[in-house]
Amino acid sequence: MKVNEWIKLLDKAYMNKPMFCPECGGEVTARMFADDDRFGFAILECSKCNSQQQISRVKFPKSVNTEKL
Ligand SMILES: [Zn+2]
Repeated sequence: MKVNEWIKLLDKAYMNKPMFCPECGGEVTARMFADDDRFGFAILECSKCNSQQQISRVKFPKSVNTEKL
């Protein structure tokens, strides 16, 4: 797993830009969960090869839409 490449995708998720899987180039979707203090985690998943990466201890920018923890 190219973990650093996955973590870089988070910036794109913040900006609602398309994300592509570091493993296979497929389309990646992100789910982001945060508490009221904007701390939480993200789950990135490739729809093509089903690779999944969870990124923990993320402090999300205020502008980003997250789901409630
Ligand atoms: Zn993939």
